[in-house]
Amino acid sequence: MIGHNAYVIGVDIGRTTTLVALVNGNGEILNQMEFPTLPEKGWEDTISRIMQAITSLEECIPEHGIWSGIGIASAGVINCERKNIVYASNLGWHNAEVGSVLMERFNVPVRLGNDANLAAVAEYVWGTKKDVQDLIYITVSTGIGAGIINGGQLVQGKSNSAGEFGHITMDVMGQQCKCGNYGCLENYCSGTAIAYIADRRLGKLKGQSWTTKDVFEAAQNGNGIALDIVKVAGIYLGNSIVSLIHLFNPTKVILGGGIINNDNMLFQEANKTINNRCLPTMRNQVTIQKTMFGKEIGVLGATGIFFMDEVSS
Ligand SMILES: [Zn+2]
Repeated sequence: MIGHNAYVIGVDIGRTTTLVALVNGNGEILNQMEFPTLPEKGWEDTISRIMQAITSLEECIPEHGIWSGIGIASAGVINCERKNIVYASNLGWHNAEVGSVLMERFNVPVRLGNDANLAAVAEYVWGTKKDVQDLIYITVSTGIGAGIINGGQLVQGKSNSAGEFGHITMDVMGQQCKCGNYGCLENYCSGTAIAYIADRRLGKLKGQSWTTKDVFEAAQNGNGIALDIVKVAGIYLGNSIVSLIHLFNPTKVILGGGIINNDNMLFQEANKTINNRCLPTMRNQVTIQKTMFGKEIGVLGATGIFFMDEVSS
């Protein structure tokens, strides 16, 4: 049982940036270090730089404190038992044995999880202080993912792959997704999809591909097609959230990720759809909100997993 004098070091391995942070038993970040992930150099190279950061942060643990472990958040397919990243397409890593390397070096417990799942843990443990036992976190970024807390437990599934929300089918006749399925949600309202659809419907922007920021700006400035692209994306996102609410009957649905955090229009459109289509009894019981956390949500989730059963006591 770990208590309030526990300290955990959280690691969030992103495509471009890795964040390593020392977090105390109140969910406060005491110190953090950020550096480029450079995944193309191989996972061993990245992990050696992560180990340097952990060594520095370990020295910041107060004398009375107990170092209770290292938590790691990563995209991709994770094996929580073997503590390795089985495959992360955005990092290009196969079978990265990060857990065993860290345990051997530091001799503390190591936990590993999918970044969207652990973001839900951050919301549950630190955001709601475990007051909300049923919540869903949805990240809308270049891709789409979700983490589900049901009855105070993280829903992980047989192989820790639960929450692949971006790959639920929205259109059975839709285009093939990179995952092999057709008409996946991610192809309608992720950042990648919004920019791609803008390229097709609006043509190139001064010879360049559209970014989602360009599309939102054009929509704000009254470009009817850009506005329609955002509206349609919001309708898809809203409908997919309606399905989640109908399946899990949560108290909170929390949205985060670059696309949601940097613009309000998609969020508003999704909300309208949810209000129109959700079963009223369930709609009345659920709050739809944006995350209060910034880029630290990954390290907060990676450390929060150590406090899943302790915070409310
Ligand atoms: Zn897919």
